[in-house]
Amino acid sequence: MRYSIARFWRERKSHYKLLGKKCLECGRINYPPGRICRYCGSDQLEDIELLDKGRVVTWSTIYTVPTGFEEYKPIIIAVVELLKTRVKILTRLVDVEPDEIREGMIVEPVLRRISEDRDAGLIHYGIVYRPSLLGERESE
Ligand SMILES: [Zn+2]
Repeated sequence: MRYSIARFWRERKSHYKLLGKKCLECGRINYPPGRICRYCGSDQLEDIELLDKGRVVTWSTIYTVPTGFEEYKPIIIAVVELLKTRVKILTRLVDVEPDEIREGMIVEPVLRRISEDRDAGLIHYGIVYRPSLLGERESE
């Protein structure tokens, strides 16, 4: 088996979470996380779990995909603003047709297969977003 099971389990934590860094000096949230706060330069940061529903800010549909990714076509990449923290993330939208997407649409995180190593028999999962089943009523 080419892929290390130990490595997979070590990395699993980051696959199932959306971690940012909260600054203990200025209180702002850094995402993507860095070693120092991008707002005040402090190095007093703590992990914060950001995973949350969000609203679609902008999106782009990719119809030409790399070889091996045809089954995911078209790929919809979106900027989503998380509801609680107002942090903006770049993510993939699933379970939606490109012409159904609206600015402000409420979306929720879901784990999906992002790649498969058939030789090692491993399937890797990551967080993507889909339209929230409860939809617009949750937006305020
Ligand atoms: Zn700061």
